[in-house]
Amino acid sequence: MVKICCIGAGYVGGPTMAMIAYKCSDVQVVVVDIAAARINAWNSDRLPIFEPGLDDVVKACRGKNLSFSTDVEAHVADSDIIFVSVNTPTKTRGLGAGKAADLTYWESAARMIADVSKSDKIVVEKSTVPVKTAEAIEKILTHNSKGINFQILSNPEFLAEGTAMDDLANPDRVLIGGRETPEGQRAIAALKAVYARWVPEDRILTMNLWSAELSKLAANAILAQRISSINAMSALCEATGADVSEVAYAVGKDSRIGSRFLNASVGFGGSCFQKDILSLVYICECHGLPEVAHYWKQVVQINDYQKTRFVNRVVSSMFNTVSGKKVAILGFAFKKDTGDTRETPAIDVCRGLLGDKAQLSIYDPQVTEDQIRRDLATGKFDWDHPQHLVPSSPTACKQVSVVWDAYSATAGAHGICIMTEWEEFKNLDYKKIYDGMEKPAFIFDGRNVVNVEELRKIGFIVYSVGKPLDPWVKDLPAVAY
Ligand code: NAD
Repeated sequence: MVKICCIGAGYVGGPTMAMIAYKCSDVQVVVVDIAAARINAWNSDRLPIFEPGLDDVVKACRGKNLSFSTDVEAHVADSDIIFVSVNTPTKTRGLGAGKAADLTYWESAARMIADVSKSDKIVVEKSTVPVKTAEAIEKILTHNSKGINFQILSNPEFLAEGTAMDDLANPDRVLIGGRETPEGQRAIAALKAVYARWVPEDRILTMNLWSAELSKLAANAILAQRISSINAMSALCEATGADVSEVAYAVGKDSRIGSRFLNASVGFGGSCFQKDILSLVYICECHGLPEVAHYWKQVVQINDYQKTRFVNRVVSSMFNTVSGKKVAILGFAFKKDTGDTRETPAIDVCRGLLGDKAQLSIYDPQVTEDQIRRDLATGKFDWDHPQHLVPSSPTACKQVSVVWDAYSATAGAHGICIMTEWEEFKNLDYKKIYDGMEKPAFIFDGRNVVNVEELRKIGFIVYSVGKPLDPWVKDLPAVAY
């Protein structure tokens, strides 16, 4: 029986390993982590992450061929294939701070693997890493190997949170990169045999290590670039009276472009896009390619611009001040169907409004009060360092309250900001909400989920990213956006 161990029981390690166990009943899968609380949660009825369909898959395999453990070393020593799915955050200090990927967690995992291994292993990079990381990992492993053969493979993960289980069950492609030596090719074949149980052969792409590593960074950069492109257009739409949804629809009809990832919004979030683009920027700079670095950096800069622009719209529309005014924040997760708040635009928007002394009332169906307060207290980039490794205490900020439904959040508010495209925000009783708010009542839709015309009929002043401006907003004195 093939034994697989995955180091890192996070958003990637947990779901991917659950899917492997589910699809391969003859493969023994154990997911290990140094975070005991996380492992306990994986072993409980309340899993540590919310992902549609995940509960069923975990329950079907846990206790059979899937287990979760903190006994990292024993399980690593015992396995044939070791996936490493630890976090690879942006460095906060030292060389490359604010851009380069921090490989501390990866390096310590590699050293531990070398330390405890007594038989040959295939080590799989599941984390997103800078191109050429496998070379460094190989050096760490072989210089400490005690005669054991390690083969390194790159197998980047393309799942998207919120649809992770579907993405894993029906991936567009699985990438496996390895050395072009006979041993490297054998390792590729062994991993391919695992995926081939449920992924059609023509979707399993094998290639050299560096192509596989770079493909993941390239895919994330290009996805994020589409969002920043349409967001840049949304600013021009607002200035000219064009409607960004119509523009995106027309552009997306071109089969060379396609319609996905062309939704204008307050900006992209999530743990990967910004971190991976900054990592790409740093790699380009290190390779003497400043023009290429500058090109990709713009994708992040437009994203920051979009968040700032949104805050400026809110404040300028509400008579140039939100001081002391209650503003409801609907949604805090970086997208719907996840409780993940890493790099969510809601954090920057809330900080912007708090800076203008607003009173925020925040509601998200999947994010806890503790998490929201922690996010608002954590410094840029620090969020991606696991909480048990870099503790930060939640802020007791008196300007923030966290509530458990949209109606309490909006009661008595001057304005509403929609930060996440949760389905329930489309179907709220907006007449009831309007009646309970201060007047004039404002809605700022950062996700284009509301029906602008209907809300205007109720009496709201509505701003929706990239849509023709409400006469109220249009007639305001010019502000720099
Ligand atoms: P995560 O923070 O949710 O999980 C990482 C886990 O690794 C944490 O639980 C941490 O405790 C554990 N860990 C760190 N060092 C360890 C060690 N030495 N031994 C054992 N456990 C250790 O991160 P994630 O979202 O699962 O992302 C993991 C990697 O996958 C990152 O490189 C990320 O860029 C990449 N990725 C993420 C996504 C996504 O949607 N989240 C998608 C594709 C790729």
